[in-house]
Amino acid sequence: MRSQRPFLVETITAIALILAPFVLPHLGFTPNTINRILVWGLFGLGFDILFGYTGLLSFGQSAFFGTGGMFAAYLLTEAGFGYVMAAVFLGTIVAAIVGYLIGLIALRRTGIYFAMITVAIAEVFFFVEFNPLSAFTGGENGLPGVPRPSIFLGFTTLEFNTDFQVYGFLAFWYFVGLVIALRIVRSPVGAILSAIRDNPQRAAALGHDIHSYKLTAFVVAAAYAGFAGGMLGLMQGFMPPDAFMFETSGQLVMQTAIGGAGTLFGPLVGAAVWLYLSDFFQNTLHLGATWKLVLGIVFVLLVCFLRHGIVGAVIDLYRLVAGRWAETAPGAGVVPPASVPATPPTVAMMPARRRDSDRSSGPILQATGLTKRYGGVVANSDIDFTVNHGELRGIIGPNGAGKSTFFKMLTCEVPPTSGQILFEGKDITGMGVADVCQLGLTKSYQINQLFNRLTVRENLMIAALAETRGKFKLDLFSNPRNSPELTEQVDHAMALVNLASRGDAQVSELAYGEKRRLEIGLALATSPSLLLLDEPLAGMSPAERIETVKLLKSISRGRTMIVIDHDMDALFELAERVTVLQEGRVLVEGTPDEIKGNTKVQEAYLGGVHDVLAAQ
Ligand code: ADP
Repeated sequence: MRSQRPFLVETITAIALILAPFVLPHLGFTPNTINRILVWGLFGLGFDILFGYTGLLSFGQSAFFGTGGMFAAYLLTEAGFGYVMAAVFLGTIVAAIVGYLIGLIALRRTGIYFAMITVAIAEVFFFVEFNPLSAFTGGENGLPGVPRPSIFLGFTTLEFNTDFQVYGFLAFWYFVGLVIALRIVRSPVGAILSAIRDNPQRAAALGHDIHSYKLTAFVVAAAYAGFAGGMLGLMQGFMPPDAFMFETSGQLVMQTAIGGAGTLFGPLVGAAVWLYLSDFFQNTLHLGATWKLVLGIVFVLLVCFLRHGIVGAVIDLYRLVAGRWAETAPGAGVVPPASVPATPPTVAMMPARRRDSDRSSGPILQATGLTKRYGGVVANSDIDFTVNHGELRGIIGPNGAGKSTFFKMLTCEVPPTSGQILFEGKDITGMGVADVCQLGLTKSYQINQLFNRLTVRENLMIAALAETRGKFKLDLFSNPRNSPELTEQVDHAMALVNLASRGDAQVSELAYGEKRRLEIGLALATSPSLLLLDEPLAGMSPAERIETVKLLKSISRGRTMIVIDHDMDALFELAERVTVLQEGRVLVEGTPDEIKGNTKVQEAYLGGVHDVLAAQ
């Protein structure tokens, strides 16, 4: 997504793959080690999409590596199937199908529980391969006699018999695998996978079906594993049973950590280091059984001191040098200000959804009898609440009054204990948060929920993609940079929240006020017809508040909004009507003037500032 030079990575990789068999032997790599590195690199391409890009740490990849490899090897040996590459592709498909079925189960959980399920899966597959299926897999003997690769071209057959020829064969498929992986990570799906890694809840709240995207990454990883398994059999002329072993999964994880996750090349580089060191410790230094201990220590040191792995460190270094160079270049020093003044933008307004303009009067949202209990705590109790199209409603209430819980129920982040919510006349009670966002109802959060490792532009693109593509779309090979509508939508959102000059800045580089504006921008970029803002002014300086109120006024034109805030001056200035919540109930509702003059509000909520308000 970020590369401005198309095919640069592909070209460098192709050159490196051509040079490697001539250079690496001089560094002490044996031809067989070089070939094994490529198999691990291919295996790791899929795993990096799953782990590095999507943030899903699986220890079960050996199951798919073994399945794909064994299936292909069985076809080519026991079943007498004569088409080598067809067998490998069939093995890949079988591994992908198995990955789909396993993913359906494993992805029901997240974090450590997901990882534990994948460990169990690896063990189950190892057992099944050794016992019930040993007649097919050869049990502990594996499947010998896998033919060397050959490709029939019609007029001639290419044979790959020597290590060097096998290298050419593997390097070709590694390159194909890399090109496909690059397309995937640069596609809209790849962008959404990175968003899921950074903040899955927000990715869902912006309208993406994160479960289906995670499943996609899982299947892609399984397919790569299956293909690499097939390649292992061809390379060795033998399909070893240890492909299924848990150690295989563990080694893949470690190699990826050493090389650098989220880089695609990390697993390849990690495999090179790992295999080189294990050869060196065993065959050159003759360390006997202690080689694993030494390798373990080296692994710990590498992971501790290179947090982003070897490839990550190289990228960090490159950015540092490029940054320094840019600073010293003529014209440098014109750094964008940390906080851009939030004046109302002059660009065309980001449209609310079409359906909003279709029905420009009457209620857009109706909540009846909305109640939420957390055990003994009643956060919201029997709330009736209606907002009309085009209205700008304010909600105030002391801490603990139930305002955030109320918003969470409206956006379907939490289900109500009882009550009903109608949005545009449709009952959305109990719907998923992504579905509700797709209908045009979303919110900005009280505590920023951004995609921290992405840039401002990429953040907004994640939001805009949900509107342009819907909840789920498998456009694995399209490039979002080729969509002028999407670019326009992102540019609009960026201008609307005054971040146009900060498009390429990573979230971590933004000032607090900029982050708050991006938080609002994310919600806006989904083109909601009803926008909820949970304390948009929270944590801002008085000057930033004034500017942000201006910003909110400008974005409220032609849009329906509900705003929670503690800053009553700001809210009374913004909102046409205000609802006051107290102890989970609606205390009173009215125009700002009515609220200011309401004695119930002054006594029950405003208390000490009674006199101040009366004087206004
Ligand atoms: P406000 O946004 O007005 O400060 P909240 O909606 O955050 O109020 O909270 C209302 C009440 O519900 C508080 O008493 C709070 O402690 C309780 N509450 C909110 N969320 C939870 C939760 N997830 N589990 C238990 N109690 C909660």
